[in-house]
Amino acid sequence: MPKRDIFIGGAWPYANYYLHVGHLAALLPGDILAKYFRENGDEVIYVSGSDCHGTPITERARKEGVKPSEIANFYHNEFLKTFKNAGFEYDEYSSTMNEHHKSYVMEQFKRMLDNGYVYEREELQDYCEKCNKFLSDREIIGTCPYCSGKSTGDQCEECNHSLNSTEVLNKKCIVCGSNTVCKTNKHLYFALTKFEKVLQELIDKNKNTWRKNAIGEAQKYIDMGLVDRAATRQIEWGVPVPVPGYEDKRIYVWIEAVLGYLSVGSNVAASRQIDFDKFMSNSNENLKTYYVHGKDNIPFHTIIYPALISAIKNNYRLPDYIVSSAYVNLNNEKMSKSKGNLITVNELLEHFDSDTIRFYFAFKGPETNDVSCSIEDIVQTHNKFLVGMLGNFVNRNLSFIVKKFDGIIKETDVDENIKNETIDAYKVIGDCFEKGEIRNATIKIIEYLSLANKYYDSKEPWVQVKENINEFNKTTYTCVYMMANIANMIYPILPNGSEKIRKILSINDFGWKEQVINGNIKIENLQLLYNRIEEN
Ligand SMILES: [Zn+2]
Ligand SMILES: [Zn+2]
Repeated sequence: MPKRDIFIGGAWPYANYYLHVGHLAALLPGDILAKYFRENGDEVIYVSGSDCHGTPITERARKEGVKPSEIANFYHNEFLKTFKNAGFEYDEYSSTMNEHHKSYVMEQFKRMLDNGYVYEREELQDYCEKCNKFLSDREIIGTCPYCSGKSTGDQCEECNHSLNSTEVLNKKCIVCGSNTVCKTNKHLYFALTKFEKVLQELIDKNKNTWRKNAIGEAQKYIDMGLVDRAATRQIEWGVPVPVPGYEDKRIYVWIEAVLGYLSVGSNVAASRQIDFDKFMSNSNENLKTYYVHGKDNIPFHTIIYPALISAIKNNYRLPDYIVSSAYVNLNNEKMSKSKGNLITVNELLEHFDSDTIRFYFAFKGPETNDVSCSIEDIVQTHNKFLVGMLGNFVNRNLSFIVKKFDGIIKETDVDENIKNETIDAYKVIGDCFEKGEIRNATIKIIEYLSLANKYYDSKEPWVQVKENINEFNKTTYTCVYMMANIANMIYPILPNGSEKIRKILSINDFGWKEQVINGNIKIENLQLLYNRIEEN
């Protein structure tokens, strides 16, 4: 198969708290796809980064008396560590604070303006005459018209009603306490309404490649009626607006963050001397693009991002695959920071091997519906599949050889039927990966492990070794052949286990294809692939 061009965009987590299991479940398919396509020899560009701008970080910084960049930098560095510990290998993991990202976004913003999709609009906005500035929603305090509680310009802090700043009563500046006045302000707007036809065609074209929830959400968004959206915001923390007279405003994060895929992608391409315009071109028939995120992010990837690409008019490919996950609950309860039941990825990694967690979410991930996870279930899944099926197949087989034959496995033929089943398995599992169906791929891998265990049991090598040594050698050689192929098949999901098997068998090369073995095999440094975890 010729080498293909694969672009994978993992969603950009917001840098104001640690990554939790919901992030991991939603983002893991991206890393699995990247590993699979790399193993297959394709040209992969897999990018992501930290989303660092916007109101929540600005607000928190104001409350804590620090700069927004301090908060964003802290969590960005945490994200880098967490992803590494979870076995993620981005080609580049950047941040929206990155200078290349900022200049890239400003350049694309100008193109959208020049192409006539960004226009100026005047509107009334709250102003503080003492501070001499327009106030963002979060810089306003006032009274909620529904419950008379304390509210900001966009949300009541007591009844949580979302509000429009025009309905908030007794509005005051959060900094100096003065009453606000209304003044005409200008903003730039993005003409989203002009892309209804393009977006509808995109949804119709991708009915079989976008996940069902993505098709549903995107269609709902269009059916509700698209509206033009403010492209600039009254805030100091963000990417500057490259238009004179807009020095006190920044580009709205909804535009800026999704363009990160292209700012970072172009960076990776440049580092490999790849022409990114050609790579991402819609006419590149060799290209497939995947976008991997949670369901709350669907409109940004199915509506906003394709509309921005269309407005930039650089003929880039619109998303081919939308790999959008549902939510993870904990013990059947919704997880949230305020409930205090949020499990961070760091907490999981303190107790479990990253393979254990990767396998769990690959197998039980919220691919089509919300799922409930629990620590007990993670432990049971680990023990049943990684220890009971995978580890056991490798270890019981090889420890016998080490004990009785000094770790030497004599070269002989591999069972023909097993050979055919193995070649088929690559095709079937690979097809699942390429459709973004990680759970199905995992199920097919489990079926192959089950085949391997059944083969071993049915041959009864502990009897063969006494009665027919040639048959015993063939069984063992065939089992080692299966182990070598298991190492290839599990690699995208279980990189640690894959590496251990290859080390034990002294296999250096690997790829998404039948792993042929030849000659006598010497077992080196046999170790348990996975330890059983006690259920308490
Ligand atoms: Zn209220
Ligand atoms: Zn003021």
